[in-house]
This record gives sequence, structure tokens and C-alpha cells, in this order.
Amino acid sequence: MEDKIKSFLDLVRERNGDEPEFMQAVEEVAETVIPYIVKKDIYHGKNILLRMVEPERVISFRVCWVDDSGEIQVNRGYRIQMNSAIGPYKGGLRFHPTVNMSILKFLAFEQVFKNSLTTLPMGGGKGGSDFDPKGKSDNEIMRFCHGFMSELFRHIGPNTDVPAGDIGVGGREIGFLFGKYKKLKNEFTGVLTGKGISWGGSLIRPEATGYGTVYFAQNMLATKKDDLKNKIIVISGSGNVAQYAAEKSIQLGAKVVTMSDSSGYIYDPEGIDSEKLKFIMNLKNVERKRVSEYCVKYPNSIFVKDETPWSIKCDIALPCATQNELNINDAKTLLENGCICVSEGANMPSTKDAVNEFQKAKILFAPGKASNAGGVATSGLEMTQNSLRYNWTRKEVDEKLKDIMTEIHNSCIEYGSDNNGYVDYVKGANIAGFVKVADAMLAQGVV
Ligand code: NDP
Repeated sequence: MEDKIKSFLDLVRERNGDEPEFMQAVEEVAETVIPYIVKKDIYHGKNILLRMVEPERVISFRVCWVDDSGEIQVNRGYRIQMNSAIGPYKGGLRFHPTVNMSILKFLAFEQVFKNSLTTLPMGGGKGGSDFDPKGKSDNEIMRFCHGFMSELFRHIGPNTDVPAGDIGVGGREIGFLFGKYKKLKNEFTGVLTGKGISWGGSLIRPEATGYGTVYFAQNMLATKKDDLKNKIIVISGSGNVAQYAAEKSIQLGAKVVTMSDSSGYIYDPEGIDSEKLKFIMNLKNVERKRVSEYCVKYPNSIFVKDETPWSIKCDIALPCATQNELNINDAKTLLENGCICVSEGANMPSTKDAVNEFQKAKILFAPGKASNAGGVATSGLEMTQNSLRYNWTRKEVDEKLKDIMTEIHNSCIEYGSDNNGYVDYVKGANIAGFVKVADAMLAQGVV
């Protein structure tokens, strides 16, 4: 088996070796899915995984825009259309200076499995730009978004490819992108998700990724007859996912003690309650300032510069910032401090070694492609509402989100349980996500 996995990875590395994040994502899938494929005759001789690691289409384009001082700026835009076997390409757009082909291909590849797990008919894609929104005025953001969409619009559509937000792309950016698309196509369609409520958005979409991550943790804890009440929670990030992971954790009776951004983390031993979280939301979403300001307002807390929060003692860790933000040493520290559950809100936030540590210790560990799938699932619900030209209530969407997270959890149990009752959620998510896409690809022939 090891030879089979190695020769597959050697082949993929030959083509993509200079793309470390993409290789990391492929390795994790190959190690769990190839042993499954070997046992299933229907997949033999079909090279199905080799087809899945090759994007159906990669688009790279120039984005020119004029900054406030009148200078012309040039950025690079991308869209990776990874797999459309079970539905139109679907996945977010990331605006961050670190964006490159490796990062977007890893995100697009993970998205294929994640979207399949949601049970909704969505293929996988991802896109973005190396544009850095930090420190830009609203007008600069608008001009960039318009420049970006003036090329992207040719490649997307409600039945072709439906982008959404990700790091650096929130409600403001989706508004500018949607406005330009509508202008160019002369069509009001559900071509993007994460739209404002008055122009086609869905209630609960902003909350969905963070809420879903916590619902998934709740499902995992329930297998041990446990829940979130009075649990100490350490969260990284202070953006969209982190904010709503914190909100739901607080609502369910847990005590959130940290949040962070790329400058460091804040630790509040008294707990970040709803009032304090409101302060953070305003700080990050309206004032667009650094998380360290929290300690000026709440002097009993501390700010630790340039560090991640994993050394703080907790029961549950929710990494909600970015990829590879939690390494093997962090994993060891979390385990030594008694952490019993990790539910990933971000995409691939734990390094491969860190995941191995969690699994060796047999704690509850959920990979992002399962635990953060609530965001794209609710995007799927937004697409449905757009097609129906109808809006569900907050309660209706939240109920559907909860049901979907429970379904995903059940799929992980189905494919990831061993004989001793331990659930390998990585294996479960990878195989469950794979089966639906692979079967659709087989049915559609070699295309
Ligand atoms: P936001 O841009 O809203 O927030 C990102 C947060 O992470 C910010 O606090 C940011 O800090 C921090 N961050 C970003 N890059 C780094 C870095 N290199 N080092 C340390 N901190 C960093 O993004 P989201 O909350 O939407 O996304 C967070 C994660 O969740 C990503 O991995 C994303 O792919 C994933 N995700 C998001 C979904 C969604 O619906 N939005 C859906 C599923 C997954 P700073 O402000 O300093 O940049």
C-alpha cells in the first residue's frame, strides 16, 4: 500500500513539486483514499484520483487599477476551476499578499471534498489575488474589485461557477464584485454568495462558517456524552470565521479566552463575553484596526505580539485564521494542557505533523473540510433561495445548517470509525467526500 501511495505522490510531485501547500493537501487525501480505492473494484483502472488532482481549468489574469494618488497598480488575479462533476464550481475568493497558485490549488482541492460532504450539488473552485486590502481606502477597494471582475465575469455564472468570500473578501468586497458583474452582464443573478440581505443574500451566511465549526465540535463532544458548557476555548483569528465561532461558543455556555490577528493574540482570563465580542467585531469590521486595541479597552487582558494562542490552557481549540498556523509543538502543548477537542474553522490550519499528534493522542480532531463546511453549505442554501426567488427565515436557515453539520458528522463516522470506536475524522471526511465525486466522474465518462 505504501508503495502505491508513494508512486502516486511522486507522480503528482513531478508536476506540482514547487507547490508545497497543494502537495500537503494531496498527501493527506492520498494516504486515506488510496487504501479505500484499492478495496473497491469499480475504481480500478480509472485513474480517478489522478484526474481529481488536476484542475479542470486554471485562469490567471492581470488586474490594473488606479490608487488614490493616481498611480496605476498591477495585481494578479486567479480562478481555479477544480472539479464540476457534481455541480457548478463553488468556492471563495481570497485577497491577501501571500496568494499564489499553490495556496489556491490546495484550497480548490479541499473545496471539492468539502462541497461534496455538504450533500448539496456544488463542484469545487477557488480564486483570488495577491492584492492586499490592508490600509486601502473604500474607493481603492472598489476600483480593485471592479478591475478584478472586469476579467473574472467571463468565466463565472450562476450555472458555471459561483464565487464567495474568504480571507480579505467580506460583504463590502462581494458588493463591489456583484455590482460590476451585474453591470457587465445586465443580469441580476445568484452569481456570487455572501450578498447583502436586501440584494439576494441569505440570513445566517455571515455566521455560518463559525457557527458550523462549533456545531461540529458539539457533535463530536456528544459522542463522548459531553458538551460545550463551561469549556475553556482558545480561538485564533478575529475575522469572519473567528468572530462567529466565538459568538456561538459563548451562546452555548463556553468561555472564550483568546482571539488573534496577524500581529499577535489577546488573552482575557475573565473570558470574552458578548459585549466584549461586539467591541472586537466593530474594531475589525468597521474601524478595521488591530486586535491589540482590545487590551487598551479591557486592561485585565494581555496582548502577546507575533505569537499564536496555542500555549494558553484550554479544553477546546478552534483555529480560525489561516493555513499551517498550528504546528507540531503547538499540538504537543495543547495536549499537555489537557485539550480534548480541535475543530478547524480555517482551511488546513494544522500542519500534517500536528494532525498526527492529535490522532496519536486520540482526541476529537476535525479537519476543516468537514468542520468549516457550514459556510459553503449556507452559500448553497443562498443559491437555492436565489433560484426560488424566496427567502427563508433566520431560524429556517440555522436549522438547515445544523442538520447539514450533523449529516457531515455522520458521514465521517460512517467512513472513519475503527473497530475500537475511535473516529478518524480525516479519513472519514476524505473518503465520504471522495465517493460522491468519484461516482459522478465514473458515470460521466472520460471528460
Ligand atoms: P478574514 O479575512 O475575515 O479573517 C482572517 C483572520 O485571520 C484575521 O484575523 C487575520 O488577521 C488572520 N490571518 C490571516 N492571515 C494570517 C496569517 N498569515 N497569520 C496570522 N493571522 C492571519 O477571513 P475568514 O475569517 O473568512 O477566513 C479565515 C479562515 O477560514 C481561512 O483559512 C479561510 O479559508 C477559512 N474559511 C472561511 C470561510 C468563510 O466563509 N469566510 C469558509 C470556510 C473556510 P489580519 O486581520 O491581521 O490579517
